[in-house]
Amino acid sequence: MPRKNLLKNVKRIVVKIGTSIITEDGMISTNRISTLVHDIVSVIRQGHEVVVVSSGSISSGAGVLNHDREGLTIPEKQAMAAVGQIILMNEYRKCFQWEGLEVGQILLTEDDVNNRRRFLNARHTLNTLLHFGVVPVVNENDSVVVKEIKFGDNDTLSAHVANIVEADLLILLSDVNGFYWDLSDPEPVEEIFSIDAEVKRRAGGSGTVHGTGGMATKIRAAEITIRCGEKMIIAHGREENVLSRIIRGEKIGTIFVGEGHPLGSRKRWIAFSMKNKGIIRIDDGAVQALRFNKKSLLPSGIIEISGKFDSGDAVEIVDANDQQIGKGIVNYNVQELQLIMGKKTREIRSILGGTYFDEVINRDDLIIY
Ligand code: GLU
Repeated sequence: MPRKNLLKNVKRIVVKIGTSIITEDGMISTNRISTLVHDIVSVIRQGHEVVVVSSGSISSGAGVLNHDREGLTIPEKQAMAAVGQIILMNEYRKCFQWEGLEVGQILLTEDDVNNRRRFLNARHTLNTLLHFGVVPVVNENDSVVVKEIKFGDNDTLSAHVANIVEADLLILLSDVNGFYWDLSDPEPVEEIFSIDAEVKRRAGGSGTVHGTGGMATKIRAAEITIRCGEKMIIAHGREENVLSRIIRGEKIGTIFVGEGHPLGSRKRWIAFSMKNKGIIRIDDGAVQALRFNKKSLLPSGIIEISGKFDSGDAVEIVDANDQQIGKGIVNYNVQELQLIMGKKTREIRSILGGTYFDEVINRDDLIIY
């Protein structure tokens, strides 16, 4: 499909900028940032809203304190981030001011997107900044997080930011031209419509076409983005005017496009911010009902449950072959569900001795992948 058509309704964009495209010999480069900022501003001047997610705090700190980034301990990296984040923001502020715009800094942790109240607070602040014509510049709050509560990489963070602001498009700018099916291919794949096991295999881990790290987190970001019904592009951040050209419809990099409609904000939150507390395995009839007939999940289709969940928690739904089907908020806790799984809806009342919900997961609380 022509890119122009795929991008015709795009208004709000999240642009993720990788460390490698704004540094030169391990130091932040004003030149590179100002070139990118100029491109971002020209997209804004065409009527788009842009949220920037920028890496580079640890490298900036390490550069200015003369440390080699590799080999730093976690507290040392956190200290570098504390030093470097100011340098990074100063650069962005200076470059955006040259173009007549102000920036606002938002530092997030994974905790912030898992907590509904903080998720909404972040959304309100980001929306308000955009409303004031200020460019939000987001990074992970590296100085205060440890591994367990860390996104760990800004690809994942940027997909969550896109989700928080309900962006129509996420653009990941780094030092790769896109997603390559095979390293011998001269060009990256133009379009990807679903993230299946083969795409993940080719993206992930060492010994694959993309080597370690890098592409796996980008594919994870693509998975989050297209499950929300939005689009993502991987492109090289050093291409000239890369953003303006993408927005004009030039076929640059790889675009990931979901087949579903954009999810509403509540469902996005269920899908990506609520932690899975258990697994519900369902039979083929229930898979059909959920996937094709847009039904709620009833007790009769459940064949197995595991985990420790309460009513109101999120659980993952899988089929008999362990394929992920979706995720939803359960109306019953694990003990209740043990008693009613496999039973007809009308039997629930006599088993549990009270009036209960007909559905285990109501359609409104359900996301199907
Ligand atoms: N938040 C880290 C930084 O600013 C970068 C993480 C990443 O590049 O994915 O240095």
